[in-house]
Amino acid sequence: MNTFSSQKNNAVPRLRPAPLDAVVVLAVLVLAAALFAAMLPKQSGGALACTVSRDGQVLDTFPVEENSPGERVYGAYTVSVAQDGAVSVTAAPCAGQDCVRTGAVRRAGQNIVCLPGRFVVELSGTDGDGSGVDIVVR
Ligand SMILES: [Zn+2]
Repeated sequence: MNTFSSQKNNAVPRLRPAPLDAVVVLAVLVLAAALFAAMLPKQSGGALACTVSRDGQVLDTFPVEENSPGERVYGAYTVSVAQDGAVSVTAAPCAGQDCVRTGAVRRAGQNIVCLPGRFVVELSGTDGDGSGVDIVVR
């Protein structure tokens, strides 16, 4: 006769992992995995990408490969890729021509900035020694 109430009384709340705990654990695991992946040296063997942007807007992104020299024209700017994979701005409308005189960049993290024109040529990816943090601002 008393089964219902006794069942109720026996249902002692147990300490179980709340759903939120699972989310937190998952988040920590994902974060740890992401950090681990970020710290791993990349083995891509020098794959480089060049991003060309103006006023903060990306105009173009293209892979930089050795032995595929060429020129790309963005308005009054000309970005050249040399035989050895070096990227440079070879023509620009700015008065100072600082971006042209910056010369060539060939490693990830390096960039060429034309301040007057808000024109940026940036290399990303990995290079041989994996440092990839050098920034050239002249
Ligand atoms: Zn310039």
